[in-house]
Amino acid sequence: MRIDIVSLFPEFVAQVAGHGVVGRAQERGLLALHGWNPRDHAEGNYRRVDDRPFGGGPGMVMMIDPLRACLSAARAADPAPARVIYLSPQGRPLTQARVRALAAEPRLVLLCGRYEGVDERLLAAEVDEEISIGDYVLSGGELAAAVVVDAVARLQEGALNDAESAIQDSFEGDGLLDCPHYTRPVEHALGVVPPVLLSGNHAEIARWRRKQALGRTWLRRPDLLDRGALPAGDRRLLEE
Ligand code: SAM
Repeated sequence: MRIDIVSLFPEFVAQVAGHGVVGRAQERGLLALHGWNPRDHAEGNYRRVDDRPFGGGPGMVMMIDPLRACLSAARAADPAPARVIYLSPQGRPLTQARVRALAAEPRLVLLCGRYEGVDERLLAAEVDEEISIGDYVLSGGELAAAVVVDAVARLQEGALNDAESAIQDSFEGDGLLDCPHYTRPVEHALGVVPPVLLSGNHAEIARWRRKQALGRTWLRRPDLLDRGALPAGDRRLLEE
């Protein structure tokens, strides 16, 4: 998969997102990250990329032409069709289901805004989708782009050492939260490991994990749980 980052600080996204699983995905040739700076496509001595908003008010707005030229250069760098995403607090909230769909695209172009945002005409003409990473305002789209890069990179086949781990993560499969995890030592001043996990009984361990996942989803994120749609076995586990 190829991801192009259009940003005034493209190297920032690669630095923030480029470690661990994402770094490994790049080393394994599963992901290629490319940065594009609209300032390199701006004209004049000052290479200006922003201007004052029409109608007055505070802040600056990113101008159409440097962004348009930059997007065009990014698109032309590879023949694969690119889905252009603008990171925006006004976008569709990012979910694991959306991440899965994006991870299956051959190519994404992530457009990061700054200041008050981007001239609306550029967004209408060039952007396929707007994505928000939450109901709060960042000072730039770069951290949001790094979130998208990380989330889609770990779903590339071969990026995780154990592909099973992604399947049992929170929000995957039937959308429950993950069960709790423990490792050595068995006994610690902070508590002991639940004995069932040491039993070697795989059916009992799976049942315990399922019950924990159901229980914590019910307690922490009841909005994720459609009790009516749960299989009878799950409803019994919840009621135990
Ligand atoms: N005036 C804009 C508004 O209220 O909708 C906010 C602009 S914000 C200060 C600058 C840039 O940060 C945006 O253009 C966008 O790219 C990015 N950004 C801010 N919050 C974000 C969020 N929650 N999700 C994704 N991107 C965000």
